[in-house]
Amino acid sequence: MHPVVAIVGRPNVGKSTLFNRLARKNAAITHDRPGVTRDRIRVEASLSGRAVSLIDTGGMELSDAEGMDLEVLRQAEAAIAEAHVLLLVVDGREGLNPLDEQAAAMLRAGGKPVLLVVNKVDGPEREGVLTAEFHALGMELQAVSAEHGFALNTLRERVAAMLPEEAEEALPAEKPELRLAMLGRPNAGKSSLINALVGEDRLIVSDVAGTTRDAVDVAFERGGLRCVFVDTAGVRKRTRIDDGVEKYSVQKALSSARRADAALLVIDAVGGLGMQDKKLISFLDKEKTAFIVLVNKVDLLSPKELSELKKDISYALKICPHVPVLYVSAVSRRSLKKILPLAAEVKRECGIRVGTGELNRSMRAVLDKHQAPVVKRRRARFYYLTQSEETPPTFVFFVNDPERVKPSYARYLENGLRRMLGIKAAPMRLLFRSSHKPKE
Ligand code: GDP
Ligand code: GDP
Repeated sequence: MHPVVAIVGRPNVGKSTLFNRLARKNAAITHDRPGVTRDRIRVEASLSGRAVSLIDTGGMELSDAEGMDLEVLRQAEAAIAEAHVLLLVVDGREGLNPLDEQAAAMLRAGGKPVLLVVNKVDGPEREGVLTAEFHALGMELQAVSAEHGFALNTLRERVAAMLPEEAEEALPAEKPELRLAMLGRPNAGKSSLINALVGEDRLIVSDVAGTTRDAVDVAFERGGLRCVFVDTAGVRKRTRIDDGVEKYSVQKALSSARRADAALLVIDAVGGLGMQDKKLISFLDKEKTAFIVLVNKVDLLSPKELSELKKDISYALKICPHVPVLYVSAVSRRSLKKILPLAAEVKRECGIRVGTGELNRSMRAVLDKHQAPVVKRRRARFYYLTQSEETPPTFVFFVNDPERVKPSYARYLENGLRRMLGIKAAPMRLLFRSSHKPKE
């Protein structure tokens, strides 16, 4: 077990943002509303070469018992109990809050090493001013900006130095790893597909809803690639279907997807696309999750039925035309061989990184070929762009007026980037920021 680092603090101080940064992938959702991250989320991360388990707690609203989710507090307490190092996050722009003081007192009483992380210090200029009053808490302190990436490496180093010695453990041998999440409605054939891919009955498949056997991550090797199906317990878990309505939790599906490099969304070819499938597709797209659609049980369809279904599926994927679809059968084994290589390709594309110079040189042609349309009597002027993140590739365009960039033009730019970078199947995020002049 890796040493555990828990991120705690009151809502909206930027815990999830920090968690995502340290995890280096979008493992938690960030949101403007306080308290949106409710579940405790855990990922493995590397901080300055040290492997750790990183936990994001839901947020402690200590004194506000009313309207407070007891579950959230319980989760935070559990995380604190389990942690080796605690990061208490506070909001540097808002200043010291009584809840910060309570949290600090509670953590101090726990006797574990704590680092006070003063977040939202969006650059070194105001560091002194924004951190001043927090020294009153009498803790080791580090100013950062989770959102803008200020001082995060220093933070990583300091946290790494606080980890216990004996838990020293190298990151697992550098074997390429492909983490997959299997999503889809009950009976779509998720377990059958896992078994077919793993090559042995690692999960118990049954016709009877509710005969679940819990298992966690299932790992296996294929052609030198270590593959892991994450959260297979969730695959087997069925909500009660007494009332004839089968439910599956979109939240659970999303949280599994966040733990994986790519999600495989299994659709039952016989049942077709359900409301929940459509809802999940739209969430996966919004979160820019890498996913592949597997339409399973095609052995049961006539050619005519199959071609009807293909139309439905491509219609449902109009919002995210890059998402690959495979028509498969766990029983006849049709197209099963394509699944893992395709998932590996999606993962590779997610990690593509391109330099600012090359990006701007190549995109110039795309921007000039079709200029942004005139909106409210003016055109958006594009100054330059840069790739701000990978997984998924995220590009920031600096524009005089982002309001003038309409979705159709954004789609055009996305297609241009996709062609240029050879990103076919991975999600991609485009952001438009206002800027007044071109970069020198
Ligand atoms: P949590 O509730 O503590 O998990 O907070 P979130 O991570 O959801 O962040 C709350 C809000 O603060 C979001 O709107 C973030 O965009 C914003 N935020 C997070 N980190 C920073 C930062 O470093 N600088 C600024 N200016 N805003 C930030
Ligand atoms: P899960 O709930 O999504 O894990 O679904 P299961 O893997 O338990 O499968 C549900 C049922 O569909 C079982 O009776 C399977 O035998 C059946 N099934 C799964 N895949 C296929 C397939 O490709 N073709 C056919 N004909 N049946 C399948």
